[in-house]
Amino acid sequence: MSLSLTGLRHVVVAGAHCDDIAIGCGATLLALRQEFGDLVVSAFVLTGAGTPREAEERAALEAFCPGVRLTIEDLPDALTPAHWLATKQALATFTRMLPSPADLVIGPQVADAHQDHRLLAELLVTEFRAQPVWGYEILKYESDLPQVTTYVPVSEADARAKSALLHENYASQQDHPWFDEEAFLGLMRVRGAQCNTRYAEGFVVAKSVIEIGDHA
Ligand SMILES: [Zn+2]
Repeated sequence: MSLSLTGLRHVVVAGAHCDDIAIGCGATLLALRQEFGDLVVSAFVLTGAGTPREAEERAALEAFCPGVRLTIEDLPDALTPAHWLATKQALATFTRMLPSPADLVIGPQVADAHQDHRLLAELLVTEFRAQPVWGYEILKYESDLPQVTTYVPVSEADARAKSALLHENYASQQDHPWFDEEAFLGLMRVRGAQCNTRYAEGFVVAKSVIEIGDHA
């Protein structure tokens, strides 16, 4: 069973670290950009400003979604829970500066094992109370892949383009043992099998409001 996403004008994507957004929902972003030509994408990243990772992130997100509006903050990597107020205020400032209300918000999922991912996931649902908030999954050393509830089928071309763009743009991450094409395509293949297609990205969605008919 599937529902179709229509009328999308503005999507917010959020990540704790430079590369989280592209790893978590890169293929979905590629598909959204193709389907919705005038889509505005606003991106928020908690950490990395002023480091070499900022340039990587700017180039990568521009490749995934040309024209992206990108805000990168300089909160301390791995320590954001100790900077709760600054994190909350940075997200609130980003939200206040949005050019229009978001139709969809995509960020980390609340059961992620990484403390920065988890904090941002918790704050997103408090900041975006009128929007659907999807939590992406991040494959890593920890065994914390979630039981995803929502699937976005993606084409093989977009799945492979995601992997290629990750490799082209995040040179600093390529020594991680999980950072390779087999891992990226493998997870998308598993999520594809679970929704009866070839490739998909999976999301955790805690709450949905479904209107019957067009109430826009
Ligand atoms: Zn991360």
